[in-house]
Amino acid sequence: MQPKPNIVHLPVYQPGKPIEDVKRELGLKEVIKLASNENPYGCSPRAKEAIIQELGNLSLYPDGAAVTLTEAVAKRHGVAPNQIIFGCGSDEIIQLIAKAFFLPGDETVMATHTFSQYPHNAHVENATIVEVAMTQGSTHDLPAMLAAVTEQTKVVWICNPNNPTGTIVSHEEVKVFLEKVSPEVLVVLDEAYIEYVTEPNFPNGLELLREHKNLILLRTFSKIYGLASLRIGYGIGHPDVIKLINQVRPPFNTTRVAQVAALAALADDAFVEDCREANTAGIQYLTSEFKRLNLTYFPAHGNFIMVETKRPAAAMFDALMRKGFIVRGGHALGFPTSLRVTVGNQTQNEGFIRALEQVLTETVVQV
Ligand SMILES: *Cc1c(COP(=O)(O)O)cnc(C)c1O
Repeated sequence: MQPKPNIVHLPVYQPGKPIEDVKRELGLKEVIKLASNENPYGCSPRAKEAIIQELGNLSLYPDGAAVTLTEAVAKRHGVAPNQIIFGCGSDEIIQLIAKAFFLPGDETVMATHTFSQYPHNAHVENATIVEVAMTQGSTHDLPAMLAAVTEQTKVVWICNPNNPTGTIVSHEEVKVFLEKVSPEVLVVLDEAYIEYVTEPNFPNGLELLREHKNLILLRTFSKIYGLASLRIGYGIGHPDVIKLINQVRPPFNTTRVAQVAALAALADDAFVEDCREANTAGIQYLTSEFKRLNLTYFPAHGNFIMVETKRPAAAMFDALMRKGFIVRGGHALGFPTSLRVTVGNQTQNEGFIRALEQVLTETVVQV
């Protein structure tokens, strides 16, 4: 067989280790996963009710255009329905953007340490990845990213808050970037964690979209809405951009169950607000504990924190797992002595800090 040469060396995605595997392998009764930025409070009860109501329709194909959900989301954001596209998670929107925009050899600009699906999908389409170093090793350097754009650049990726570092760029920074970058370049602003953000000068992407046709915002129901298993996310952009991406979209890429659950979840503002408040309190708690333990961390604006442990991340990951906590080791993310930990509920956070404190005393400091 003759597959595309550019894909044969690609690694298969390694997800956070499943709870059941860890329980079985280590003989643990309770395992807490703080590795995949999932919502510790689950999802809105209204979403569960909507799913139950939909069970009689499983034999029917979904509405491929997700008309009802599209209208609700468009109304929520004050845009037209033809400015929205749904995907099997926003992961699929990333894939569809790569499919619609890249010819082999095209360039795409992104930060050194950002969401792995941007380089992955660029590789699949044989695009050339241009990585730009981050300020303080953690934050998108938008002026440097602007300088890296050439005539060959098709897409620039800005992840805000950035996964895995949790840092943000401001409205002003993104505005200036958009004013200076060629309108021929598509700028992706991935806002998977936007509902968690409390920082007042966080970009208003919808406002920027009114001035810049070459901007697309990515959102998801997987994070604060707690519907990760249903795989539904979306893009918001200019009708022309959304149309292009729709032209490469598979016909039935979201399910009936996901659509009704998302519609119900969208209407439950109180659930989202409660989760945001609990997350902010969780960040407060975890960062104050990190300070007590003399650990530094990047400013956290999503539902996860990248903490510097000054010890090899693989060893820390292993030791924490033996104590029943699955986190994301920085060694897999370009941060060899850091951990990315999802903010859990208060009990989980306290348990994690107890385990971390023990593990820190057992694991040798790297000099
Ligand atoms: C989780 C995440 C996504 C995508 O999530 P989906 O479940 O595919 O909607 C996209 N971007 C970033 C930065 C994420 O962390």
